[in-house]
Amino acid sequence: MIESPTIPTIGVGEGTVPSIRHSLEKFGIRETDFIRACDVTFKQSIKFVNWLDKTKHGENYYHHLFDHPYIFGEEVTQQWLANGSQHRYAAAVSKQEICCEENYAPKTIATPEYVGVNGYAYHFDARKFATFLMKHAQTTFAVKHLYADILDVSLDDNGFITHLIDSNNNQLPYDFIIDCSGFSAAIIGKKLNIGFIDRSEELLTDTAITLQVPTSSEEEIPPYTIATAHQAGWIWDIALTQRRGVGFVYSSKHMDEACAVKKLHHYLGNKFTDLKPRKIPIKVGRREVFWHKNCVAIGLSQGFVEPLEATAILLTDFSAGLLSKRFPLLKADMEYLAPDFNQRVTHVWESTFDFIKMHYCISDRNDSSFWQDNRQLAGISKRLKSNLARWQHFAPLREDFDSKFDLFDLENYLYVLYGMNYLPRKDAITEPVAAIADKQYAFKANRITQLLAELPKHRDLINKIHQFGLQKN
Ligand SMILES: Cc1cc2nc3c(=O)[nH]c(=O)nc-3n(C[C@H](O)[C@H](O)[C@H](O)COP(=O)(O)OP(=O)(O)OC[C@H]3O[C@@H](n4cnc5c(N)ncnc54)[C@H](O)[C@@H]3O)c2cc1C
Repeated sequence: MIESPTIPTIGVGEGTVPSIRHSLEKFGIRETDFIRACDVTFKQSIKFVNWLDKTKHGENYYHHLFDHPYIFGEEVTQQWLANGSQHRYAAAVSKQEICCEENYAPKTIATPEYVGVNGYAYHFDARKFATFLMKHAQTTFAVKHLYADILDVSLDDNGFITHLIDSNNNQLPYDFIIDCSGFSAAIIGKKLNIGFIDRSEELLTDTAITLQVPTSSEEEIPPYTIATAHQAGWIWDIALTQRRGVGFVYSSKHMDEACAVKKLHHYLGNKFTDLKPRKIPIKVGRREVFWHKNCVAIGLSQGFVEPLEATAILLTDFSAGLLSKRFPLLKADMEYLAPDFNQRVTHVWESTFDFIKMHYCISDRNDSSFWQDNRQLAGISKRLKSNLARWQHFAPLREDFDSKFDLFDLENYLYVLYGMNYLPRKDAITEPVAAIADKQYAFKANRITQLLAELPKHRDLINKIHQFGLQKN
């Protein structure tokens, strides 16, 4: 692994999705060590606040939970729709919403590592996590770490990289390169000239300003990310053990920086006006291809989609997992592995763009041109348009997600669509379906009572893990 001694890592990215548990376990990392080293807290949901018009719905929110909505059976959803969808969808179908709202942990100190009573991912300190992974790679997998600034590459007659060239003009010979150089795409973009497909006409936010806000060790920790919509974007609010990471994401075409800073401070109750936010320009889009000759881009060098659903580490993890399963042993292998890799990774990028766009274009907010521009049909992909047209009448089905590589599936779509009142036609349900749903509702109510008695509060569990550790799986 080669890292620049002068260019720091981006150092943001504090939210994850549940598949990260599987990856950490696969790397042979103890969950206890990870939690202790990276200021980790548990994430069970994203709570979307005020994504609907406040003048029509008042202060509003919905949860995109990590527990599947069909855990108690599809009938519960059918009954919720038939009954006029009065109550919040996530609360109606899942045991997890109330656990989130009351700041419960997703497991107990006796639950083995990486196992959850409720579905969960993590929030963490991004810089500490990068250092933690690097140390683990060095000690467990004997990865060699070298500091150097890579400025150029040498190519053979067929366009394959033969050497990386650093700032001291050292020629470093390699067979295969993974470009993890972040937004700069130092090799895939700058040296191999693979183009960037700009998607900023679709996803309008292009800037983030971030702050780290201290918290007291007595405060309860919300076990979810809070994503609060505003006039030109949204604000993330992520609680770690000793601080909150807060980021104001906005479209600079719709709001200027001074206004964004003012609104961020206002969000924080004007208590931290002495803290100067860090500004990060974000460029939404993706590389035309991700694997070219003997170079594969992974991470931000692949592209970027704004962090609303914490998708970047997920896309990195997906790509790295796929590459590890199909790693070329011979130069000749690359010719037929690369097109397949490019096709699959393109699919996950495209479906991620769609999923994020949906949060904006089904909103009925009308308080600024940002929200109106988000509903312009030209900025919505053909696939999303056609899905949304059908889902206005018919409930989404698993069959609507025709690829196993859709990182966001029926479950995720239901929480967002129904959370935002994007409902199909109201169909009556049959008596047998109603009977099953009633039974499942009663079962869910019982399960909630048990959970609230059994689960510790989020901060209490984190403190206990620091003190005693979790049980090895
Ligand atoms: C505002 C914002 C919010 C985000 N929020 C989330 C989130 O909630 N969840 C999520 O999953 N992701 C999020 N992300 C994305 C997340 O930050 C990244 O996926 C993650 O940090 C990994 O980045 P990276 O390793 O690709 O790039 P970087 O962290 O930028 O690392 C690049 C590395 O390449 C090295 N390098 C660069 N050029 C050279 C060179 N020429 N020679 C040698 N070395 C070089 C640098 O030294 C550095 O070590 C967010 C990103 C942004 C911008």
